[in-house]
Amino acid sequence: MTLDGLPPLRDVIERHELQAKKSLGQNFLLDLNLTGKIARTAGDLSTTTVIEVGPGPGGLTRALLMNGAKRVIAIERDERCLAALAEVSAHYPGRLEVVSGDALKTDFAALAGGEPVKIVANLPYNIGTELLIRWLTVPQWPPFYSSMTLMFQREVAQRIVAAPDSDAYGRLSILAGWRTQARIAFDVPPQAFTPPPKVTSSVVHLIPRENPLPADVRVLGRVTEAAFGQRRKMLRQSLKGIEGARLLEATGIDGTRRAETLDIAEFVALANAVSRKG
Ligand code: SAM
Repeated sequence: MTLDGLPPLRDVIERHELQAKKSLGQNFLLDLNLTGKIARTAGDLSTTTVIEVGPGPGGLTRALLMNGAKRVIAIERDERCLAALAEVSAHYPGRLEVVSGDALKTDFAALAGGEPVKIVANLPYNIGTELLIRWLTVPQWPPFYSSMTLMFQREVAQRIVAAPDSDAYGRLSILAGWRTQARIAFDVPPQAFTPPPKVTSSVVHLIPRENPLPADVRVLGRVTEAAFGQRRKMLRQSLKGIEGARLLEATGIDGTRRAETLDIAEFVALANAVSRKG
């Protein structure tokens, strides 16, 4: 038995035959100290519902519950994990709801049901960036979540928190920095996972900004996509397809600059110049 009175995760994995599948991005965390550290990074959980994507055999789920989460809703695509998760649910009556399904097809705001939620997940790497972009671009702001505590490959984490004039700075940095305060909380070495991935991972903590600079999220997305689609080119070239000359004139931004030199306020100004069109 372990601290929470449930069997060790290695036993759970063996008993339920949960050999990791690469196609589902399965790299499990079996160390309850580490999953506890992720849960604590999310802050006080006693008054919120936690939404977790990909509970797998339940390591992080157990840590969230042990750290006092009022309620956890966990979405898992791998049906093999459901019996193991049902045991965790039985151990914490009324506090864990497991949803069998695909996170990419889930309406998270509806799942939250108007309650305050925090998102905490050791994300499958193949869909991590896509999920984050969806959460950052929800139409309703402030969003349905009060924080996100998420594991990514370190390289992705660096893109999320990057500042202008760095190689990692791009579309993801702008969306994240525009709407949230994002920081890397800590790194996790490959050998902490079973099986170990090839690269180091990082836990990123994001808190929504109350008043991000006003901009249309879709237009901002289009402008950053165009600018960074040709990141080595000057803006007057990379923005050509979206009336770059007019936008640069309207904002007073020098067309010989490159995308990575613009800060978030300048991208917002470009997006607003597109929106003002007529
Ligand atoms: N939370 C566990 C842990 O920390 O040990 C497992 C994390 S593992 C990196 C990612 C989990 O996401 C796996 O359990 C995998 O089956 C699940 N998963 C993969 N794709 C998914 C999807 N589209 N929707 C929901 N869960 C998914």
